[in-house]
Amino acid sequence: MLWLFDIRTLIVLIPAMLFAFYAQYKVKSAYTKYARLTTRRRITAAEAAELLLERAGVSGVRIEPIGRTLGDHYDPRTKTLRLSRPTSPSIADVGVAAHEAGHAIQHAQGYAPLALRSAVVPVASFGSQLAFPLFFIGLLFAYMGAEFGITLLYAGIALFCGVVLFTLITLPMEFDASRRAIQALAQTGIVTREELGAVKEVLYAAALTYVAAAAMAIAQLLRLLLIASAVSGRRR
Ligand SMILES: [Zn+2]
Repeated sequence: MLWLFDIRTLIVLIPAMLFAFYAQYKVKSAYTKYARLTTRRRITAAEAAELLLERAGVSGVRIEPIGRTLGDHYDPRTKTLRLSRPTSPSIADVGVAAHEAGHAIQHAQGYAPLALRSAVVPVASFGSQLAFPLFFIGLLFAYMGAEFGITLLYAGIALFCGVVLFTLITLPMEFDASRRAIQALAQTGIVTREELGAVKEVLYAAALTYVAAAAMAIAQLLRLLLIASAVSGRRR
């Protein structure tokens, strides 16, 4: 049991944790900075999203407000685009809305990583809920000398691999949505060239948080493997 708190198994989490803190700080600071600056054309976030959807020939997507800063997302199940500040014409909000419109366009065009991610969601959420309890129970039994404890440990790890996979599939999807957003904003002239630089800053910072989440999941997997090998090694 002590392995869980052993410094050698905790230390593998530190670089990923620092990276995650850095990414959170970057996205918050970039967003706060550009949420105060209005675009020259004063097109609101919701209007920008509508324009980009229309331009891509995507219809039937609802746009709704969501009362959570940076809670913006596209829900493929209900074809709903939820924006934290739909009426804001700020560079940050227009950029985020364009990114979310990018997800709606991916969905409409049957973009493979998004379809794959939607399919993996139930498996990953099941895996994330069960992986740690299974691992803990396995650890307890292994310490009591029960052989199947080791099996449970590795079953927990296998489930956690689903979580890692999920964070990895998310990456191409997020990068692609931002790429679409930047391209479309530039081509439509919704933002100026200078403003586009700021949009990129916000979207890159946001993408960094997804990279950090993947790094964190991989570090966690590594830690579980270290603990499992230490426990099974001790028993030999
Ligand atoms: Zn996204």
